[in-house]
Amino acid sequence: MTNTLYPQSYYAASANCAPLRPALQTEIETDVCIIGAGYTGLSSALFLLESGFRVTVLEAAKVGFGASGRNGGQIVNSYSRDIDVIERTVGPEQARLMGEMAFEGARIIRERVSKYQIQCDLKDGGVFAALTPKQMAHLEAQKNLWERYGHPQLELLDQRRMREVVACDQYIGGVLDMSGGHIHPLNLALGEAAAVESLGGVIHEQSAAIKIERGANPAVHTAQGKVRAKFIIVAGNAYLGNLVPELAAKSMPCGTQVVATQPLGQALANTLLPQDYCVEDCNYLLDYYRLSAEKRLIFGGGVVYGARDPANIETIIRPKILKAFPQLKDVKIDYAWTGNFLLTLSRLPQVGRLGDNIYYSQGCSGHGVTYTHLAGKVLAQALRGQAERFDAFAGLAHYPFPGGQLLRTPLTAMGAWYYSLRDKFGF
Ligand SMILES: Cc1cc2nc3c(=O)[nH]c(=O)nc-3n(C[C@H](O)[C@H](O)[C@H](O)COP(=O)(O)OP(=O)(O)OC[C@H]3O[C@@H](n4cnc5c(N)ncnc54)[C@H](O)[C@@H]3O)c2cc1C
Repeated sequence: MTNTLYPQSYYAASANCAPLRPALQTEIETDVCIIGAGYTGLSSALFLLESGFRVTVLEAAKVGFGASGRNGGQIVNSYSRDIDVIERTVGPEQARLMGEMAFEGARIIRERVSKYQIQCDLKDGGVFAALTPKQMAHLEAQKNLWERYGHPQLELLDQRRMREVVACDQYIGGVLDMSGGHIHPLNLALGEAAAVESLGGVIHEQSAAIKIERGANPAVHTAQGKVRAKFIIVAGNAYLGNLVPELAAKSMPCGTQVVATQPLGQALANTLLPQDYCVEDCNYLLDYYRLSAEKRLIFGGGVVYGARDPANIETIIRPKILKAFPQLKDVKIDYAWTGNFLLTLSRLPQVGRLGDNIYYSQGCSGHGVTYTHLAGKVLAQALRGQAERFDAFAGLAHYPFPGGQLLRTPLTAMGAWYYSLRDKFGF
């Protein structure tokens, strides 16, 4: 049992026990070889195993080493760009399918937690918080839109109701989604990995895919082994590097930072978030926070374009905490960490097929806990020959970033700076 290969974080420090999973050292054959043991890879593996496929997962580091083991733990429904944007850019049938799927990821997570008895501190309830009248109007429009696609469970919160669920005076209202919620993200990934193995799936850690042999009979090479498979699923997201150059060209890894405070104690925690819901605001560069099971405040925010690690995370996040909760001025920060998500220009996921037998899903642009679980289901359905929902995602355009690999980081940072100024001044 070891967690020493994870970056230091509250999650690594409080992870459930997991077995050592030896590196691949031979040549093997299977039905599906999955590259990456984050939620995309693990969710795909589980759906495929449940359908009778043989599955091998290759993970460069450890299960949940990437964003899946480091994120804010917020079960946020829908996509990073919402259905209004999708409606404007795709046909009505594709928009209908994507709209109907927008809240499915959260259901999949709950089914997994319940079916495989995963201990990951699951709590119901997530709040989108509006800081300006413009953001509140947008939330109201989103709620109406989501209802139109069959998601009626959302509750509009006025300023008074908002103050009952979060002790922060900045918000003028919000939307409560009881099908949202929060989890200990690394323990969800570890529980899913155990479920994969309980169904006969094989996971090799410390087994980076270093080459994909394409063609009718594809194979994935690691430093010491090889997996020949009928299908390959590429699920390395922001940590994939240049293994698949076509994918690297149209996406950009970005860093975002999270901290965990010292345990606040039940009484103080109850005053901040009395119902224990998670909260994210509606800014372009958003803040998101929640309580952990032991009543630490887990607070995330900030984006580093190009995924460089910032020198002092506490300096970035502490002012955001104090702006929301001035009463925490003396609280200590026990853990601070960074992780990479994958940004796309449209902020919608990139899903598709390379040749006949290599599938991929990546780039949920910061809102991925639910989408990645849905992606696993959609990819597994496509491999079974039911590609309607896969095609709805695959039909979304994949745009290259302006400026190419060299200039995409400064150009995107400038764009984000412009949008955060708009948020700051409320226009
Ligand atoms: C700090 C942070 C906070 C976030 N907070 C939230 C949140 O609160 N709510 C939300 O909805 N979303 C959040 N997100 C986004 C969400 O976590 C991600 O969208 C999601 O976890 C991506 O899952 P994934 O499986 O696609 O990628 P990852 O979890 O990054 O997994 C990819 C895996 O592939 C492995 N890999 C890469 N290359 C190779 C290779 N060549 N061979 C083998 N293995 C390889 C990596 O080691 C990694 O384990 C956050 C992201 C970050 C970084």
